[in-house]
Amino acid sequence: MGEPRAAFGCLVVGGGPAALAPLVAASREGSLDALLSTGVAVVEKGEAIGAGRIGNYAISSDSTADSLLTAVKDHGDSRLSALWDSDLCRRFRDVGGGSVSLADAGRLQSAIGDVLSAAIRGAGGSLFLRHRAISTTRTGTGWRTKLRRLSDDLIFEVDSRSVILGMGGDQPADQLTAECVAGAPLLPLHAGKVIQSDAVLQRSGLAAVLSLLRRRKAPKVAIVGGSTSAMAVADLLLRSAPKMWQPGALAILHRRPLRVFFPSAAAAWAAQYNDFGPEDVCPVTGFVYRLAGLRQHSRDLLMSVLGVGAPVAETRVLLHRLRPAEEAAAQTVLAEADLIIAALGYRPRTLPVFSTDGQAVPLLGEQRGGRLVDEQSRVLTQSGEPLDGLFGIGLAAGFKVGGAMGGEPSFMGQSNGLWLWQNDIGLAIARQVLARAADAASERHAPRSAAVRGAVSRTAVLGAGIRDDILADLVMPL
Ligand SMILES: Cc1cc2nc3c(=O)[nH]c(=O)nc-3n(C[C@H](O)[C@H](O)[C@H](O)COP(=O)(O)OP(=O)(O)OC[C@H]3O[C@@H](n4cnc5c(N)ncnc54)[C@H](O)[C@@H]3O)c2cc1C
Repeated sequence: MGEPRAAFGCLVVGGGPAALAPLVAASREGSLDALLSTGVAVVEKGEAIGAGRIGNYAISSDSTADSLLTAVKDHGDSRLSALWDSDLCRRFRDVGGGSVSLADAGRLQSAIGDVLSAAIRGAGGSLFLRHRAISTTRTGTGWRTKLRRLSDDLIFEVDSRSVILGMGGDQPADQLTAECVAGAPLLPLHAGKVIQSDAVLQRSGLAAVLSLLRRRKAPKVAIVGGSTSAMAVADLLLRSAPKMWQPGALAILHRRPLRVFFPSAAAAWAAQYNDFGPEDVCPVTGFVYRLAGLRQHSRDLLMSVLGVGAPVAETRVLLHRLRPAEEAAAQTVLAEADLIIAALGYRPRTLPVFSTDGQAVPLLGEQRGGRLVDEQSRVLTQSGEPLDGLFGIGLAAGFKVGGAMGGEPSFMGQSNGLWLWQNDIGLAIARQVLARAADAASERHAPRSAAVRGAVSRTAVLGAGIRDDILADLVMPL
């Protein structure tokens, strides 16, 4: 590996909606220019930033169109708010409190990514597209991150005061062999008929699953999990092939009770939904099961299955609570299913992290059930110590909502939503990144303005022998 390096105020790893959320939040607050002037770089293995994976799913959003639109609404900065008048946002505005396809949600994030790309480049930052981050190592002042350029496998390093990990999450295969469902892991017991929910929710996976099930006379599917994904899978299967299913054909096996979101306790009572107490109501918004409750299509389906406020009870879906006393019954459901869809949750993608002396630093988020970040979105070591200047955000990061952000006190899970990332969570990260950049500047006793600070730091490093082809990517007008 050669020696070329570049220095930035912040390196964002991953160019999906969560990784970019601190920039969106800063834009709303009017501090995007200040943030960009510290020197922001984004590394993304794909061709562009913005969309991430959200647009790959064949389902519609569980967020309202209105909440997705907050990413471009009421900004102190005109660049993102200019999208408000686009055709896509007009369509979102027409939908309002309803849901949109995740394909469209991806298009909106993509448009946001285009605006931010121009802003980052315009401020002298860099986009490392078709590059993969490989590891990050603590330095005296921040982090040194190793990147691989995918076109030719060139490896080089980038220094930054802060790093934001926003690489998304996946459903690890080891869950299937390690996590007990009704007394035994799904694999190897049910080998040959287990698939992960993430694959089914994507267009290509859905087509494959339906073609397999069409070969069965009266197909039966067991869906394991109690999250939005489990109910979203059931809803997608029902919508995609409405005539395929007999009563009880889709069984959802879940550990925790499935909850219905309501905008107020009064609305819940009016629908004769009484399955909640004071600890299930968000003290900030008054919403019932603000975080745990299913929303939009998944909510409609659950209400129909439970017979809450729905004219027709949905009999094709059965709920099985996984309790020790009912393990044998649950195993029968699994054994009789033609297909088992595991919706056992996501784990965050992370990078190998090293200390200043080159020792590997295991992360809590790499452990089963461990969260990646603390309440300030700082990445946690395995022993629960926050790592200064290393932040995490996005799918499965495990951020615990509470305090001024609200959420029902009874909520035990993690919150995975664009709105929170693009508002409170992202803003808190943006402010910490800015504060660290300001500290760095005062340590250098130098500059008069944030814009100059960013430029000085990059000039110094670019002078240190960076390769020409990388330089072309990095050098921006100062
Ligand atoms: C089925 C489903 C439905 C959802 N519906 C909603 C919804 O309606 N509303 C809502 O608010 N949220 C929803 N979410 C949650 C969340 O908004 C999405 O999962 C979203 O895609 C997460 O964004 P992300 O940036 O964390 O991850 P991703 O979208 O996966 O983006 C991660 C990015 O990082 C890049 N990357 C990864 N590793 C590296 C590396 N080493 N180097 C460089 N680049 C890298 C990837 O290429 C990718 O572009 C849903 C999630 C799921 C799974």
